[in-house]
Amino acid sequence: MEDIKSSILKGKKGLVVGIANERSLAWGIAKSVFQHGGELALTYQNVALQKRLAPLAEKINSKHIYEFDIQNYRNIPSFFQNLGKEFGNLDFIVHAVAFSDKEELKGDYVDTSKNNFLNTMEISCYSFTALIKESLPFMNQNANFLTLSYYGAEKVIPHYNVMGVAKSALETSVKYLAADLGKKGYRVNAISAGPVRTLAASGISDFRYILKWNEYNSPLERNITLEDVGGASVYLLSDLSSGTTGEILHVDAGYNIVGMKNVNAPDISKV
Ligand code: NAD
Repeated sequence: MEDIKSSILKGKKGLVVGIANERSLAWGIAKSVFQHGGELALTYQNVALQKRLAPLAEKINSKHIYEFDIQNYRNIPSFFQNLGKEFGNLDFIVHAVAFSDKEELKGDYVDTSKNNFLNTMEISCYSFTALIKESLPFMNQNANFLTLSYYGAEKVIPHYNVMGVAKSALETSVKYLAADLGKKGYRVNAISAGPVRTLAASGISDFRYILKWNEYNSPLERNITLEDVGGASVYLLSDLSSGTTGEILHVDAGYNIVGMKNVNAPDISKV
């Protein structure tokens, strides 16, 4: 059982989509939500990932876990109807989902295939909009939505390629969705997280180099943790951030503000 830290999210119910294992950013978020009093329903993409999720769900007292493939659009309305019946209406949804063919997360962006371009955009960007649209009848007053982005949306990161394009589109979606849903009192935000070694990240070529580069060159001189992402998500998912929407909050040890390599950073090729 994870330790309770506060009751900031007491009485709030949320859905987290995107836990693959205990390294997932979505797990960092789920754990923090639980530690601050929130109650969660969780999903797993397929049966292979179910056995990883079950013990994690137990740690945060989540009794509502569902198989959910976000590309299965026809099933999204019935998924929410069922969730509404079994778990109740929601105060927030966390979308921590991305995918691209790892063969195209190496080499040059110019070689991106049409199929993988469309598939990456669909899973990593469009799915957030589709999820929100179908969830609306099941959301409580002052509900909010959160997705995960990366600095590769703003600047070129080696090998991030089509995923960078998808993250740019996702960040712009956050703004358009925030504008659409503001009149209902709903908020939409993103966390732009620094690099973390996860299943999805392992598909990016030379990811170890990216991690080292961030560690040596970010103002905090370290990489971020799941707890860093969890803490920021508690702020965004709670009423503490009631005046914040359409925001891309960097949780990257400050890396995005740096314009030049740290003069004291070691030569990465030698570490
Ligand atoms: P992860 O592999 O733990 O999570 C990715 C999740 O996406 C998995 O749970 C997977 O099942 C899910 N997914 C993929 N296709 C799906 C589908 N069709 N239906 C339902 N679920 C599907 O990796 P992660 O790094 O925790 O990724 C979570 C989010 O964080 C992603 O959006 C990723 O781009 C973003 N992010 C990651 C990093 C990093 O360095 N790891 C940095 C910034 C942002």
